[in-house]
Amino acid sequence: TTPFFDAVIIGAGAAGLFCAAQAGQRGLKVLLIDHADKVAEKIRISGGGRCNFTNRELDPRAPHKHFVGQNPQFCRSALSRYQPADFIALVQRHGIPFHEKHKGQLFADRSAEDLIAMLLAECADGRVERWQPCGVRKIGFSTPSADGVSAHSYQIDTDRGMVEAASLVIATGGLSIPKIGATDFGYRIAHQFGLPLVERRPGLVPLTFDGDAWAPYAQLAGLALPVEIGTGAKKERMAFHEDLLFTHRGLSGPAVLQISSYWQPGQPLAIDLAPGVDLPAALAQAKARSRKLIANELATLVPGRLADAWAGQSPDWQRPINEAADKALARLAERLARWELTPTGTEGYKKAEVTLGGVDTRALSQQTLECKAQPGLYFIGEVVDITGWLGGYNFQWAWASAHACAQALPVH
Ligand code: FAD
Repeated sequence: TTPFFDAVIIGAGAAGLFCAAQAGQRGLKVLLIDHADKVAEKIRISGGGRCNFTNRELDPRAPHKHFVGQNPQFCRSALSRYQPADFIALVQRHGIPFHEKHKGQLFADRSAEDLIAMLLAECADGRVERWQPCGVRKIGFSTPSADGVSAHSYQIDTDRGMVEAASLVIATGGLSIPKIGATDFGYRIAHQFGLPLVERRPGLVPLTFDGDAWAPYAQLAGLALPVEIGTGAKKERMAFHEDLLFTHRGLSGPAVLQISSYWQPGQPLAIDLAPGVDLPAALAQAKARSRKLIANELATLVPGRLADAWAGQSPDWQRPINEAADKALARLAERLARWELTPTGTEGYKKAEVTLGGVDTRALSQQTLECKAQPGLYFIGEVVDITGWLGGYNFQWAWASAHACAQALPVH
């Protein structure tokens, strides 16, 4: 006969492992399935191999501050019931050393492997059965019998045979990094059950520029500096103070990854390359006391390579500063403080840390992550239209949504 589970969870990544562990520990009979050879590959490569597993600055009462999606308020309930402090306590119980980096970001001292081992130990505690690698071919659903004798159930056709479950949890993540197993499985299941989807696009991703237009800046590849970067007009405007990195094809670094989740194709970015520096005043003062080249004076205010590249853009700027016209210096200051440029695109899912869009939150319960119109079907983690900022917010959403779902799954 077909083996029966209280819950089958598809996707043994951050959300799937955590949900399986918690449900198992509540006494549910849980099966976790993943098609990849290795468990939690995305955790392994996250945070440069050290996994930025949460963020102390997360405010569950104001999710719009750190989460993007059509309705960031949706994640308030789950984030309030499972907070960064709860996950930190778990990490501490497992004796995993960690440290805080920048802006509340917490990283493992040794390696992301510590977190994977922790999640696997938690699953073992909950007697979770894990089939991996194991593909899923088809999902069937049967409604309760008219006489009320049998409840609804899901039939899951896998590479290791058919299984049946009262609840089905989809934790297959987004489309980023197909090389390590990302697929559109979750979106296909959503479609099968008639759930609305919000259009997907790469997020937390480097931005690219047209080859010719980029040529003057290509020489700056490798240069990193703190900037203020913004996009959008007026009320829609979003800005970040972070490091920018020049690459051969365009721009990257935390500043660009963050803004990429808000950038709309066709829109310009505005970058202040010398935030906090009063450039017009500094250049005017230099003009009054110095005979050096503009580029040399500029190099005392911004990195030397940037100063050279900018001064090289106009003959007006390639002369001793005391001979420069006031207007020319004002234009130079303006070009550095308000560098406007329009990306042609992104580096795509190959390089994106996350996928924006996904299962429309209007179709889900914010308390349980269950589909409102499809009993027993749940979506957790990145597959949902909730995307966090860079800095541990995506993992905290994975843990919190997994927790909310695991608490709600019924035991049979
Ligand atoms: P995932 O962790 O992606 O897990 C999905 C699982 O589903 C995978 O194991 C996959 O094999 C499986 N799966 C997919 N399709 C199928 C299928 N058809 N059948 C069966 N199984 C399937 N976030 C942070 O908060 N901090 C960081 O430091 C950080 N660093 C990152 C670095 C990189 C390079 C990348 C790409 C992402 C990073 N992220 C980080 C984002 C974070 O990894 C994800 O948001 C998070 O892993 C999402 O969890 P999830 O469980 O929803 O999906």
